[in-house]
Amino acid sequence: MTEPSWWAQRWIAALERMVDAERLRQGRWHARAGRVVQLVVSSGGAEARLEGGDATPRSVAIRLRELTASQWEQVLEEMAAWALFSAHLLNRHLPPEIEEVFETAGASLLPAPRRDATCRCTCSDSRHGPCKHIAAAWYVLGDRLDDDPFLLLTMRGRGRDQVLAGLRAHRRSAQTSRRHDSDTDPARWTDSTVALQAAARGNGLASAASLLSSETSVDTFWTAPDGTREFDPGESLADVADTPTEDAQAVKRLEVPPFWRSRLDFHEEMEKRYRAIAARAELCLGDSS
Ligand SMILES: [Zn+2]
Repeated sequence: MTEPSWWAQRWIAALERMVDAERLRQGRWHARAGRVVQLVVSSGGAEARLEGGDATPRSVAIRLRELTASQWEQVLEEMAAWALFSAHLLNRHLPPEIEEVFETAGASLLPAPRRDATCRCTCSDSRHGPCKHIAAAWYVLGDRLDDDPFLLLTMRGRGRDQVLAGLRAHRRSAQTSRRHDSDTDPARWTDSTVALQAAARGNGLASAASLLSSETSVDTFWTAPDGTREFDPGESLADVADTPTEDAQAVKRLEVPPFWRSRLDFHEEMEKRYRAIAARAELCLGDSS
């Protein structure tokens, strides 16, 4: 069995701070026995229903404090500044730094029980504090969060789609301001990579190719240039790609690379592949716009 994620462990640790050992034990038993027959996560928390055996059915509500709209904007802006956040999220992984991001906005992602988590159950025992039913629902929810950390964000007020759309919007506006800076500030053009990228953005790959001077060789062309940024899966392809005006123009300026083993003509083959990629990219971009 693999170890639970750090956020699932922290989720359970929060429960253990609230509930005594005996109720935790009973809660684990109820969870394992499948007594939690329904669990619905929504903005602000989760609702669970427990049934089974001769026991009276119970309803449990777990409430977490939602972030305000301005707190969310701050969180998304911070997260968008680091491209890997989107990649981690899409991979259903929360980087530990996410907690700092929430703290900076004066909020908390995982529950701080005495401050922002409240629980209710329909049993009489819960009048004295969290009962075994609450513990059972909390454990089952922990398993769900382990698989899908977006549920944690949902309980804090923004679902998966809203978070990803927010990240895209913040990254786009950050790119727009960076683009503006690099277009107007000649000091930024000292690095040939920056110049190449700026030309590719402004005029398409054909003019980027014209910047490939004679010092460009097959040894360096097939590696990513220094400073090439990672593509963020959360952003639109349309933000980073331009359609070239001529197929494989940059490649056609190069000699046949040493790794080319085929008897087919290298430049013709590249031209075909560039055409296919461009057609596919246009389809994708068409879909996304
Ligand atoms: Zn109860």
